[in-house]
Amino acid sequence: MGIRTGAQYIAGLKSRQPEVWMAGKRLTDVVSEPVFQQPIKEIAKLYDMQHDPDHRDSITHICEETGERVSNAFLIPKTFEDLRARRALFETWSKENFGLMGRTPDFLNVTVSSMASNAAFFEKYNSDWAKNIQNYYRHIRDNDVFLTHAIVNPQNDRSKASSEQKETFTHLGLVEETPEGIIVSGAKMLATLAPITDEVIVYSFPGFKPGDEKHALAFAIPIDTPGLRIICREPMQDGKRPLFDHPLASRFEEMDALLVFHDVLVPWERVFMHSNVEAANQLYSQTGLSQSTHQNGVRGLTKLSFAMEIAAKLADAIGVDGYLNVQTQLGELVQSVEIIKALLHVAEYEYETTPHGEVVPAGVPLETIRGMLPKMYPRAIEIMQTIGAGGLLMMPSGKDFESAELRDDMERYYGGRTGVTSYDRIRLFKLAWDLCGEAFGQRLVQYERYYSGDPVRKLGMFYSKFKKGHDFALVEGALSGAMKAEQSPVEELTQS
Ligand SMILES: Cc1cc2nc3c(=O)[nH]c(=O)nc-3n(C[C@H](O)[C@H](O)[C@H](O)COP(=O)(O)OP(=O)(O)OC[C@H]3O[C@@H](n4cnc5c(N)ncnc54)[C@H](O)[C@@H]3O)c2cc1C
Repeated sequence: MGIRTGAQYIAGLKSRQPEVWMAGKRLTDVVSEPVFQQPIKEIAKLYDMQHDPDHRDSITHICEETGERVSNAFLIPKTFEDLRARRALFETWSKENFGLMGRTPDFLNVTVSSMASNAAFFEKYNSDWAKNIQNYYRHIRDNDVFLTHAIVNPQNDRSKASSEQKETFTHLGLVEETPEGIIVSGAKMLATLAPITDEVIVYSFPGFKPGDEKHALAFAIPIDTPGLRIICREPMQDGKRPLFDHPLASRFEEMDALLVFHDVLVPWERVFMHSNVEAANQLYSQTGLSQSTHQNGVRGLTKLSFAMEIAAKLADAIGVDGYLNVQTQLGELVQSVEIIKALLHVAEYEYETTPHGEVVPAGVPLETIRGMLPKMYPRAIEIMQTIGAGGLLMMPSGKDFESAELRDDMERYYGGRTGVTSYDRIRLFKLAWDLCGEAFGQRLVQYERYYSGDPVRKLGMFYSKFKKGHDFALVEGALSGAMKAEQSPVEELTQS
């Protein structure tokens, strides 16, 4: 089939009945649920872009293996140009939602492409696992499948290993092996967009200890697999709030969910790893996941640029951007954007080629983005709050514009500097409030901090890896230079 349209994506959702719970109710039809309608439309729009002559050739390509047109997310880069072609997809799609939707289909499609191209890692442990991940890659590529993922064990008690939790299957684990596959039970978090995806992939984050074997798993199943329950968090909007009042929150909310597996059968052909703590702890770093970090970086740049532009427009609208304190805040944001942009260029231009010929962006600059954005993005939000100040809370609702009695006051008291009408200013401030005040915006801050794991431990891992690969040539040079300088008399220098 190759690339899908938005209508095909929606038809796929309608054809399934996953077990989705929200606010104490089991939903029977996610497509007609108001909370999901806008995000479904946003995802459908992305699928349609694959067919749009303005975008088609820059975000899709003809698959060598099948001759069908597929997304660039399934490109296994062999050249710098391939990397750039993939980036074009990340950029084009993230700009459609201003970088506010982190789990668009490209993210996990790239992740699985990367796992499949690193099948040698799986092969080391079990040749079936290697075959399964490669076949799964073909399945999602050829059917343009939209995945969610759940790779983190629920919090419960973080001071204890999975095997030490209150119950054996609090954290997802393998109950038994059968001729058909493995039976799994327990929970995993935090599956963003799960109710409106086609399938879920479960894999593991490092941190398993000996004794955790039954929790060391990687597999993928359709989202409506019997026994798989999706428990949504409280929605941050009801899907009915006017777009005028919530221009972002009403369009781009990504639902997060806990996945609970009640004796779920995972067929053998969908098992990529099980019962192996060493493999589970290595999977994340050894299967080229910097390819998905590339998507995160490009999307993060769009989001940070968007926040910077909003903060600058707020300042301009109320005539405060001539003040030094405001200029230094805005200047800081512009520089933050430039830092991320530069890091992305470095990552792409200093790409590495793996032993099996895959081109991957350089890991150090990408991980640096991962370390910087959790600081830069919350700072951008703080600056927006500081510049908008009380004005952010003063905004009336769109309905007020419909009242004849209020019309004069609306036009007189909500305007900005000369040339900025009340209507324009209110719209801009509402855009800002969705990002810096609404629960929707707070989730986006939390997302930037935690979407790919705890930034504290990630920075620790980053440094350990850096230390192993770094030769400390400058220090060695200074030390050996000092030794030589000590030994050679000054006359030697003047003679030469
Ligand atoms: C909005 C959002 C969307 C997300 N979407 C997804 C998704 O789609 N799929 C998915 O799988 N995951 C998703 N995540 C989950 C994300 O992977 C986790 O939140 C992240 O891995 C951090 O884990 P945690 O939240 O359990 O925090 P914890 O690991 O419980 O950490 C809590 C606090 O304790 C500290 N801490 C805990 N353990 C240690 C330790 N051993 N050493 C030092 N400090 C420690 C941490 O630094 C942190 O401050 C999402 C998260 C967010 C916020």
